[in-house]
Amino acid sequence: MDKDVRVRFAPSPTGALHIGGVRTALYNYLFARKTGGTMILRIEDTDQTRYVPGAEEYIQEALAWAGIELNESPWTGGPFAPYRQSERKASYMEYAQKLVNEGNAYYAFDTPEELEAMRERLKAARVANPQYDALSRMQMRNSLTMPEDEVKARITSGEPYVIRIKVPRKEEIRLNDLIRGWVMVHSATLDDKVLMKSDGMPTYHLANVVDDYLMKISHVIRGEEWLPSAPIHVLLYKFLGWEEQMPQFAHLPLILKPDGNGKLSKRDAERHGFPIFPLQWTDPNGGEQVAGFREEGYLPDALVNFLAFLGWSPGSTEELFTMPQLIEAFSLERIGKAGTKFDIDKAKWYNQQYLRMRSDDELTRMLQEQLDKNEVEYAPETARKVALEIKERAVFPQDLWKDGAVYFIRPARYDEAVAAKKWNAEAATIIEQFADAVENSSQALTAEGAKNLLQEVLDKNNVKIGRVMQAVRLALTGLGSGPDLMNMIEIIGNKETAERLRTALHQLQVNG
Ligand code: GLU
Repeated sequence: MDKDVRVRFAPSPTGALHIGGVRTALYNYLFARKTGGTMILRIEDTDQTRYVPGAEEYIQEALAWAGIELNESPWTGGPFAPYRQSERKASYMEYAQKLVNEGNAYYAFDTPEELEAMRERLKAARVANPQYDALSRMQMRNSLTMPEDEVKARITSGEPYVIRIKVPRKEEIRLNDLIRGWVMVHSATLDDKVLMKSDGMPTYHLANVVDDYLMKISHVIRGEEWLPSAPIHVLLYKFLGWEEQMPQFAHLPLILKPDGNGKLSKRDAERHGFPIFPLQWTDPNGGEQVAGFREEGYLPDALVNFLAFLGWSPGSTEELFTMPQLIEAFSLERIGKAGTKFDIDKAKWYNQQYLRMRSDDELTRMLQEQLDKNEVEYAPETARKVALEIKERAVFPQDLWKDGAVYFIRPARYDEAVAAKKWNAEAATIIEQFADAVENSSQALTAEGAKNLLQEVLDKNNVKIGRVMQAVRLALTGLGSGPDLMNMIEIIGNKETAERLRTALHQLQVNG
């Protein structure tokens, strides 16, 4: 590699981080780690009107949760501090001034009304692309159309102005994107973007380019929605004399709606009932609460694995990759151009795989947390046995509680449909005798032992097991389906088993 890899994730603190932003951060991180490079986070907060309090803390927490570590950031510091653009304000004007002095940018004094009037005029004249550009700029109030002393006078008198880039009229702008290949844009399609705003703050375009240069960024890895801005950035690198240091660009494919029709939005996620933010987000204006993957029970390593595959693939059929394995396998070459559909079932599948891989201790702790939350009393070994018994079926940690509650809490009600069909005199006889046998058993029943005991009772009465199994289940759990009953008896123990059987005999009417 001819220069050190330095990549950045550059979010704007305008609200919660979208899941696509987490993917962008992840790809930057994987690339940095893979190449032994540096992962930087820069807060792009030059648009004060869109600043949302709490967003920055949210970004920090979300990345930490996902295991995306930062080498340089506002929070960790670093050799190129500050890492917040609002704190770097002083440096941008200098570059904007240089662009003006060299004829690559200009002052513009147009009011919003004048800009609107220009657009109306161009529309009326049937100009296809009504914008502030090489054609229209000469009819506007700017330093290209005004005498120099007038411009100076206006500026010294404090009249508001912006600085705009002077996009060349006819030029082919090219950039070699690492994912998309050569991208060619004709300058006539671009407008003279504002670089410095009247509040003295730079816009995204200028601040982004200046900081990428000053922070020695080697690769810009970001979402495809920034591709239209890239030609402006290429022009800025050229105008500022930084072409040699221009980073390489890699624009990531879009994340599409589940049906593949367009970009995934917050509304799509709501409609389909899945989160779009990594963590729960409470809107500071209005207090609206939006679900997060973390709170819904997604495990960070599962979500990371899922996100890594949204646009990238290792080129094999293997799907389970921990963070270190992702780092090992990652390359920009294996990122696709085409958008990828967001498939929440795949995310759930990943979650299930990762949940199963958790250690016994961890699974036990997860279940215990839920038991404590629900104020259920339990013996720690029981919690452990239950967690291990049901882990295969659980997708989320809270499923351990959903499926496990039945081991700790006696049935409060009995499924009526099952009772009507399966609870009869024969079943009641078997269950009664089985309860006696369990009570009389001198040792704690294993699953095997419970099965033998039940079989003895059945044999004595000449009844086939299939005829009463549902009734036994109903008596023990109140439900028509659920976990393996013999294992359950082993876990809850003789006394609890007998008591549940007796309660059912007491509560359920015998039909027919
Ligand atoms: N501030 C931009 C954003 O919010 C960064 C785009 C880029 O990476 O250049 O996504």
